Amino acid sequence: MIYLKSESEIEKMRNAAQLVSRTLAEVAKEIKPGIETGLLDVIAEDYIKKNDARPAFKGYGGGKNPFPATLCISVNEEVVHGIPGNRKLKEGDLVSVDCGVEKDGYFGDHAYTFTVGECSDENKELLKTTIESLYKGIDKAVHGNKIGDIGSAIQNHCEKKGFGVVRDLVGHGIGKSMHEDPSVPNFGRDGKGERLRSGMTLAIEPMITLGTWKVKTLSDGWTIVTSDGSNSAHFEHDIVVREGEAEILSTFDYITEITKNEILETH
Ligand code: MG
Ligand code: MG
Repeated sequence: MIYLKSESEIEKMRNAAQLVSRTLAEVAKEIKPGIETGLLDVIAEDYIKKNDARPAFKGYGGGKNPFPATLCISVNEEVVHGIPGNRKLKEGDLVSVDCGVEKDGYFGDHAYTFTVGECSDENKELLKTTIESLYKGIDKAVHGNKIGDIGSAIQNHCEKKGFGVVRDLVGHGIGKSMHEDPSVPNFGRDGKGERLRSGMTLAIEPMITLGTWKVKTLSDGWTIVTSDGSNSAHFEHDIVVREGEAEILSTFDYITEITKNEILETH
């Protein structure tokens, strides 16, 4: 079931998405060699609670093995769902930080991949291509297009550079739940899949690797890694499908004010 949002609902979603954006910027301030990922998680949780919201990932999944943290922090060959802890970041690491909040009954969910200090040219190219593919996907998220148009744009851009496009994890609708219909794969064919309609709210999130598209889950039940150990990158925005041009609810601007990252075009 796909829920189209009213403008007043979209306003609440914008607030939730922007809180995630500001939380990621708080984390950005502390990303440097030697910091423990668990400390980044504490910073994010405190900031979200201070802003009258709930960390949406903490406890996610329920049951015997709920996700235990506010952030998913995934380093190098970890693609997504890495659990923060006592791991210390090192110069040259790639660090995907994914954050979700619930504020006033609506969810925000977005992600950015940071470099720790200087990283290799190959890793820079991976980051640049992944973020470019995110915006190419968003460009297709307009009323009247199909879900497959988004995935096709992302896949083509990344595969022509020889990168792997993860298949097992996908973007999603978002709103009163963190994960709503429809699924938004990062691969697909033009003209295929669900028709996009104004008021649909989507989280678009390419997960791209230097090697294979194949992934596996570690024994903690959460962390997803590339099956060949190659590095991966992950960027995510929350958007509203509209006539002519999608509206991006989240922003990387607060992050890039901190990182001054000149590799990445984060329009
Ligand atoms: Mg998501
Ligand atoms: Mg996310």
